[in-house]
Amino acid sequence: MSDHDFVSGGKPIPIERGDGASLYTGDGTEYVDAGASFACTPLGHSHPAVVEAVQEQVGKLTFVDSSYPVEARENAYASLVAATPDELESAWFCNSGTEANEAALKFARSATGESTIVAATRSFHGRTMGSLAATWKNTYKKPFEPLAGDVEFVPYGDGDELADAVDEETAAVILEPIQGEGGINVPPAGYLETARELTDEAGAALVLDEVQTGMGRTGSMWACENAGVTPDILTMAKGLGNGLPVGAVAVRDWIAEGAASHNATFSGGPVVTAAVHATISTLVEEDVPENAAGIGDYLTTELEAALGDEIREVRGEGLLVGVELKRGANRVARDLALEQQVLALPAGRTVLRLLPPLVIDEAVADRLVDAMTAVVVSESE
Ligand code: PMP
Repeated sequence: MSDHDFVSGGKPIPIERGDGASLYTGDGTEYVDAGASFACTPLGHSHPAVVEAVQEQVGKLTFVDSSYPVEARENAYASLVAATPDELESAWFCNSGTEANEAALKFARSATGESTIVAATRSFHGRTMGSLAATWKNTYKKPFEPLAGDVEFVPYGDGDELADAVDEETAAVILEPIQGEGGINVPPAGYLETARELTDEAGAALVLDEVQTGMGRTGSMWACENAGVTPDILTMAKGLGNGLPVGAVAVRDWIAEGAASHNATFSGGPVVTAAVHATISTLVEEDVPENAAGIGDYLTTELEAALGDEIREVRGEGLLVGVELKRGANRVARDLALEQQVLALPAGRTVLRLLPPLVIDEAVADRLVDAMTAVVVSESE
């Protein structure tokens, strides 16, 4: 069962091929990808560096267990550790965002010897039992209870409430640096620093879930860098392999030393890690996060100017952009798809989310602004 029928109001858009920020149906109709690939293609579709790396690796060695050193994994590991904040000195590969968070919570429990998890209202961390337990939305959880217990929710962005919840029994505080699914919620300045101080005092692990915010999306490689905070555990997935299914968990030494093992057969396979190495190298060499910062500012300013009073606000960082509407986001997403060939995503009931590849230029940003203007302004008339 899919939650994503909003995209076209139930009318399928069969995508055949992608190139940069464009997706094409078989009859050649072009759609702008402003969220159809869900932040998984920071370099755009069919980026030559990733295509070549993957094709070469598939032909050479598609799979061998991770107990055998393979060049692709070693290169990916080195580029990943170099790309994460200096204090995070080791990492594990896994297969998805939810598994990265699952592993993070396991590592936090085993390294601290405690069990309580503190999570935030409106959070989204994934749909397997542990990550789901730390996810806020009840409709995702109720049918599957009991989940992996001991999770306390505090209002996102409120440092005082967080202070009340964190104590010596806390294993982890898990937060998104900016909430994605919950509505592109940017916390007040200083919130992540408060979370850092509280977890340090309590001996708990600070887990920052950068599955959606990471890989350059917010204008820096990691959103935590914008906030000047380094977590104990950083989780990532989505854009890590520019569309191939791979996640990772980067940790400080005290977590690595105290963590019991977590593994899965496909973790760190040769093909996905070839994609990781190509993706990270290209992001770094081509200053892609910097482009996301510049175009993100441009897009935000232009949206504000064009939509004015028709909307409540535009918020986010870099190319993680949320437009808070005065009406339902599903209908706006559907009309954007069917009338403007722009594939965007709702984030909650009234927030329309734009998550294009990070390599877009002003011309693509202008197309998004024109499409939003046509749909939002015409619907209010
Ligand atoms: N954490 C965050 C912040 C996410 O946005 C998502 C996916 N939307 C996940 C975790 C789960 O990732 P996956 O779908 O790869 O399990």
